[in-house]
Amino acid sequence: MTASILITGSSRGIGRAIALRLARDGFDIVLHCRHRREAAAAVAEQITAMGRSARVLCFDVADRQAARQAIEADIEAHGAYYGVVCNAGITADGAFPALSDEDWDSVIHTNLDGFYNVVKPLVMPMVRRRAPGRIVVMSSVSGVMGNRGQVNYSAAKAGLIGAVKALAVELAKRRITVNCVAPGLIDTDMTDALVTEEALRMIPMRRTGSSEEVAATVSFLCSGDAGYITRQVIAVNGGMC
Ligand code: NDP
Repeated sequence: MTASILITGSSRGIGRAIALRLARDGFDIVLHCRHRREAAAAVAEQITAMGRSARVLCFDVADRQAARQAIEADIEAHGAYYGVVCNAGITADGAFPALSDEDWDSVIHTNLDGFYNVVKPLVMPMVRRRAPGRIVVMSSVSGVMGNRGQVNYSAAKAGLIGAVKALAVELAKRRITVNCVAPGLIDTDMTDALVTEEALRMIPMRRTGSSEEVAATVSFLCSGDAGYITRQVIAVNGGMC
């Protein structure tokens, strides 16, 4: 049976590129989105045309109950995953004094709680496979360096790094690797308004990254060749730090 990988937030942007890349690498793909089921279904069609299987789960990663139900049902029907890429995320930027409670809560709940809500129901089935596995979590340069106007997002993305480092130790003997990828400024819907001359000046390579460049790194971390890489934060950021 082919190994399957769940990629959260794969209806568009970086997650979509990861799904297409991992399908090309030979994995069966479990796509996921919150609202854009049609966009995720279109990605599933592309993957099916590549000769791989793809299905779509739709739930809010911040909704613990919904995440648990959807993932448990999927595992019950199709078996435990080889891997998961926790990619779904949002921003709600603003200078700290202007940040609303809602901006704080939504960003922490989606980015940080979302990791817990998704990984918790799938990790024991993954362990019981008694085979190598992969957990890749999308952090950010913002979580490594701290970004002006992103106190909420930097907190969530830094929290993910701590969680990944601790979980990596717990799962190391099980041959399940746990790593973060920390992209810099990547050209997606999320960063539409952020790509300015000033922002580009802060990047040594003087350009944004592509979703495909992030996907290539995730693909390597999910491959058999990366079996001895765990508890790491891999930056894909054009030399920002
Ligand atoms: P996009 O905004 O392009 O896509 C976000 C994806 O996440 C969509 O598939 C969306 O689903 C899904 N999503 C968002 N919120 C939820 C939720 N509550 N529940 C379920 N799914 C949700 O983002 P990017 O591709 O730019 O970013 C992907 C990841 O990479 C994020 O974690 C982001 O923080 C991180 N990142 C991005 C950088 C960048 O420069 N773009 C830089 C560093 C990190 P739907 O389509 O249904 O709304």
